[in-house]
Amino acid sequence: MNGMDTGERYDCIVIGGGPAGATAGTVLAQHGRRVAVLEREAFPRYHIGESLMPYTWFTFERLGVLDWFEQAACPKKYSVQFVSTTGKVSQPFYFFETIEHPCSTTWQVLRSDFDRMLLDNARAKGADVRQGTVARELLMDGERAAGVRADVAGGGSRTFRADAVIDATGRDTFLASKLGWKRRDPDLTKISIFTYYRGAKRDPGLDEGATTVAYIPEKGWFWYIPLPDDVVSVGVVAEADYLYRDTRDPEAIFAREAADCIWIADHLSTGTRIEPVRVTGEFSYRAEAIGGNGFCLAGDAFSFLDPVFSTGVFMALKSGEMAADAVHRGLDTGGVTAETFVDYERDMRWALDQFRQLVLSFYNQTFSFRDFIRAHPNLHPRLVDALVGNVFADLGPLFEALREFSARTSRPELAQPAGTRT
Ligand SMILES: Cc1cc2nc3c(=O)[nH]c(=O)nc-3n(C[C@H](O)[C@H](O)[C@H](O)COP(=O)(O)OP(=O)(O)OC[C@H]3O[C@@H](n4cnc5c(N)ncnc54)[C@H](O)[C@@H]3O)c2cc1C
Repeated sequence: MNGMDTGERYDCIVIGGGPAGATAGTVLAQHGRRVAVLEREAFPRYHIGESLMPYTWFTFERLGVLDWFEQAACPKKYSVQFVSTTGKVSQPFYFFETIEHPCSTTWQVLRSDFDRMLLDNARAKGADVRQGTVARELLMDGERAAGVRADVAGGGSRTFRADAVIDATGRDTFLASKLGWKRRDPDLTKISIFTYYRGAKRDPGLDEGATTVAYIPEKGWFWYIPLPDDVVSVGVVAEADYLYRDTRDPEAIFAREAADCIWIADHLSTGTRIEPVRVTGEFSYRAEAIGGNGFCLAGDAFSFLDPVFSTGVFMALKSGEMAADAVHRGLDTGGVTAETFVDYERDMRWALDQFRQLVLSFYNQTFSFRDFIRAHPNLHPRLVDALVGNVFADLGPLFEALREFSARTSRPELAQPAGTRT
């Protein structure tokens, strides 16, 4: 057991201090566990993924961080709106029309500030947060995970011993890659090209903080997310073949697509680009298992799903909670084994499968959400559940009807969501 007797001893080591890791660290500390969160970067650091879902509210309440959003002047997100390829805007989909709860107002966040707040909160609640600490190896005691070896800030390496390890390393997928567990989703193979503008247009009134999804031809879309300080996050998601059709230069591709999308071109016309244009590939994947003896995966370290419905941070927060609760229960009942994570894995797969079906419907060129709701008005509340993050509800009837409807409808244009007036 490789140097294990000289390391520091914890109940659990969390690798990665993003939303999943900070949440897991906080929840374990709230349970009274001795937990360390090892984070590679010194926060604040840049991260994509700024638009939250209403149901993130419940994790924020548990973590005790709801006050922060007002004080950080995060734009309030009351709705999502969709824009057709001809520039027509849908009736915004206001969450408060269907949810009578404070969670119906959510936020757009600057991730560097948001992630730092969550990690500071983990520390304040009792987690031992180590930044500048890069996990290199999962240490084993026979068949069971027993800690982590990490490179530490200032040089050298250290062992952190624990009865459990949670991998929350995001798209780096520390353990899923080492174990050969990562599986790409063959049906969701998009890439994204994105940047930031200052001074771009915002819609008036309640729609000022809305997320806008603007369709482009060939199964693609733009996001437009208003952030604090008059900045907007704007990016395009589509198949690589489509985006790379005449150049591989990200700036040129972004400029071409933005100019071709009527609503985006108009909204950016008053703004100035303030950041480089970035590219993210390898969009959707899932690990073939969520854990083993003494360890589990959380957030993007387990699975990443195409971001069209802003599900990533919600799933990271939720899985951070569930992973921490599972570890806590395992420690109480004789040890953390693969069995400890059975319920957690079932619930995560259920939620991800629900969102995935919604994403596939969105990309189905022959499908219209608007027509679907006209045909199935009784399923409108279930569709709302899916869009706000209530994925642990039974959405089976919704997806059964979605599949059946997709199979028998045929339209040559891109899917339009419920409420779109085109
Ligand atoms: C183009 C794009 C747009 C998106 N838009 C949205 C959106 O609008 N809304 C939304 O909710 N989600 C969105 N997402 C998804 C969202 O970004 C992620 O789902 C979310 O950040 C996952 O959180 P996490 O904690 O699992 O991982 P991360 O936030 O990636 O955190 C992982 C942390 O682990 C650290 N780390 C990695 N390796 C190591 C190591 N070896 N040792 C120590 N630390 C390590 C990293 O430094 C990082 O801080 C988007 C994603 C993409 C790619």
